Amino acid sequence: MSQQQSTTQRFDIGGMTVTKVIDTVETFSPRVLYVDKDRSAFDPHLDWLQPHFVDANKAMRLSIHSFIIETRHHRVLVDTCVGNHKQGSGFPQWNDRTDAGYLTDLAAAGYRPEDIDYVFCTHMHVDHTGWNTRLRDGRWVPTFPNARYLFNKREWAAWEHSDNPHDKATMTQNVVPIIEAGQVQWVDNNWAIDDQVELLPTPGHTPGHCSVRIAHRGASAVITGDMMIHPVQIAEPGWQQTADADKALAARTRLAFVDNHCDRDVMILGTHFHTPTGVYIVERGGARRVRLPDS
Ligand SMILES: [Zn+2]
Repeated sequence: MSQQQSTTQRFDIGGMTVTKVIDTVETFSPRVLYVDKDRSAFDPHLDWLQPHFVDANKAMRLSIHSFIIETRHHRVLVDTCVGNHKQGSGFPQWNDRTDAGYLTDLAAAGYRPEDIDYVFCTHMHVDHTGWNTRLRDGRWVPTFPNARYLFNKREWAAWEHSDNPHDKATMTQNVVPIIEAGQVQWVDNNWAIDDQVELLPTPGHTPGHCSVRIAHRGASAVITGDMMIHPVQIAEPGWQQTADADKALAARTRLAFVDNHCDRDVMILGTHFHTPTGVYIVERGGARRVRLPDS
């Protein structure tokens, strides 16, 4: 079940609340996201992709948002989006942003930055680490002053020495300041934050990529991260994402995930899925597709 609000969305997982707070919503051509797909590739799936996930021109509707999990013990914020004042991302629309909406909406949802206990980034790409930090007096400081930032050792090892200027900019602005502030808790793939939230390794997009499994009173959900960016990949897990570091491994990971979660009562919370964002995987007529919660 979910309740649609103007800028945030709440999901009920067995009585536990997960809140989505949006940083930005954009449309992308499939030519940008996928190695060899154009808009016609959506045609077999338009009956369920439109209107929520693909627009009338067959462009992909994507959302960049955080999920805040309110467990019995902690407030856990998963993925920190693009952020403000960042430079050098390689995506012009993500550079030099001055949009106050994210923190305002977070506060409206009931979360001040100091209320967050843990921050987890599914991986260290620019659109998942941005609000890790904010600019104060010319310095990057942690946005969430009381949080432990859970950084995956395997992920940091993959990016620490990257020569790519965009990756270096992301590390310099979004990751290194957290390490220098002493707020990092280094974790492995098998980490559990508490008895309700644990990491689910989903490698391929990046080497240390982890999704997040949430469980409460017999109900469960998975936050995807970029293991799949768009719901079409539930039907087409083999489509290669341009940004996948290991495209064959990423496709295997996606296929296994879809197999494991098809026709099960597990809500899939897509990290870039446009509203309504939380969906179920079902098989209809021999093909996989999305079922919306209220259908
Ligand atoms: Zn992403």
